[in-house]
Amino acid sequence: MRMSKLFFQTLREYPSDAEVMSHKLLVRAGYIRKLANGVYNYLPLMQRVLKKVETIIREEMDRSGAQELLMPFVQPAELWQESGRWDVYGKELMRLKDRHSREMCLGPTHEEVITSIAREGIQSYKQLPVNLYQIQSKFRDEIRPRFGLLRGREFIMKDAYSFDADEKGLDKSYEIMAETYKRIFERCGLETKMVQSDSGAIGGSVSHEFMVLVNENSEINAGENDVFYCTKCGYSANSNHAVSELNPVETDGGYEKPEIKETPDVHSIEELSKFLNVAKSVICKAIIYVIDGKYKMALIRGDRSVEETKLMNVFAGNEIRIARNDEIEEIMKESGYNAVAGFIGPRGLKNVEIVADETVKDLKNFVIGINENDKHLVGANWGVDVELPARMADIRLVEENDKCCNCKSTLKVTKGIEVGNIFKLGTKYSKAMNAVFTDRDGKEKPFIMGCYGIGVTRTAAAAVERHHDEYGIKWPIAISPYTVIIVPVSDQDEQQVSVAEEIYKKLTEAGVEVLIDDRSERAGVKLKDADLIGIPYRITVGKTIKDNLVEFKNRQTGDTVIITPSEAIERIKSI
Ligand code: ATP
Ligand code: MG
Repeated sequence: MRMSKLFFQTLREYPSDAEVMSHKLLVRAGYIRKLANGVYNYLPLMQRVLKKVETIIREEMDRSGAQELLMPFVQPAELWQESGRWDVYGKELMRLKDRHSREMCLGPTHEEVITSIAREGIQSYKQLPVNLYQIQSKFRDEIRPRFGLLRGREFIMKDAYSFDADEKGLDKSYEIMAETYKRIFERCGLETKMVQSDSGAIGGSVSHEFMVLVNENSEINAGENDVFYCTKCGYSANSNHAVSELNPVETDGGYEKPEIKETPDVHSIEELSKFLNVAKSVICKAIIYVIDGKYKMALIRGDRSVEETKLMNVFAGNEIRIARNDEIEEIMKESGYNAVAGFIGPRGLKNVEIVADETVKDLKNFVIGINENDKHLVGANWGVDVELPARMADIRLVEENDKCCNCKSTLKVTKGIEVGNIFKLGTKYSKAMNAVFTDRDGKEKPFIMGCYGIGVTRTAAAAVERHHDEYGIKWPIAISPYTVIIVPVSDQDEQQVSVAEEIYKKLTEAGVEVLIDDRSERAGVKLKDADLIGIPYRITVGKTIKDNLVEFKNRQTGDTVIITPSEAIERIKSI
């Protein structure tokens, strides 16, 4: 490809709305352009990258025995009503009506559609197992589209769905996908960690995510997930699913008897612990959340935090947020109190379900809010002064240096970008949608399903996030838009131009994907652009061509060598 013909424009500056490097670089280097919030045009360079990622995915999915199909982007509401998700999916689901006022949606995922396909197409256990996949655009009206391609509203996903006759079959399909994913990301030049994760709105029980671990030192961290991991036994999990064992701390407040103490204007656990001169770990913290529109109270030991996904799962919820002050006021009123946040507690509350984290169980002579402003109860004990809620669960956020539940070693934390995930769905959709097959014993049974996603656009962006420097992108060779770029330093120098053209011709004939910068730009501009767009190898034809020498540069390592044009050609061919 000739740069003079290539449709691309690099920008002098990073776009002002971009926070993370992959977004900044993909826009500045001319790969993407924003069309609307969270919606991007993929320009020719980007399209080449995406096609490479897709090709790797296709090859590995096909190799695993999965079959590609393509389902519509627009889906009828009826299917979503059948599965029960029409009402619970929330605002991420973009709903629309056709000219006959029929309700439709833009597909955020395709469980419903694939289940309807299996329902029609698979009658007998003899047709199982089947794994069907597609590479398709998705639309999710994300609450915070940000970070460019990392979290768009429209994005490209590979989604696969497996159908098995029994759990054992599902285990095998799942295993095969886990292996396939490892190979896919490896081939893309991306190191990933497979971590345990929450199954979220999709449902099911077991799931894992493939995380690209990103540098925590960059100013803005593109890794939206905290991954806790153990260096000793290999345990690793997303914070929404991670568990840990606690290091011992003081859990006895040491008060001799229960007493109501004045705690004026003390609103945080931090302030309360200072005011009373006790450890945070002897305070029982109470927080009111709104889960799917209903009020719930969470209790947890004062030195720890609630993990909202875990809490939401206790109530099988889909949406969670902390209650606003006016909502707390309303709750208090209903139970005959008027306390504000900071003084609330479980005692005497009406119409609010309470869940206690396991950490509060062992508290003795502790401190707790009693729904009276500027007061706390100190020296409280469960069963005597306050009832221990019947509902106990692990709703605690793991923290670095907690102990690994498996091996008691110390847990560490890192940031990760989720590029793919695998779920054991079980019969969630097949049961709801009556998708059944006739088993060996002649009985009708619902399919046992799994689903497996890879963010194609997010994977490409994660590669940039992982591989760049201050000058630009450093594409892993397998997904780079071109393998090599040839830069004649001066387009006025006949010898430079003719040698560059000769190399271009030879490499092109050898089937190499090669760019030649034949623009009449200053050398500085051309070299800068080459670094910015991130082509793995650069052959610079400059003054040394008089001695039959060119510069051969590896973008990833920065290494340069001075060699003859034919050596340069051989090196590229051998890669
Ligand atoms: P996240 O937790 O990041 O929102 P998710 O759990 O919603 O992801 P899935 O619904 O399982 O993700 O989608 C499968 C894959 O699609 C994800 O692993 C991710 O790579 C990609 N993906 C999901 N949402 C987006 C998005 N808004 N923009 C780009 N890629 C996305
Ligand atoms: Mg999501």
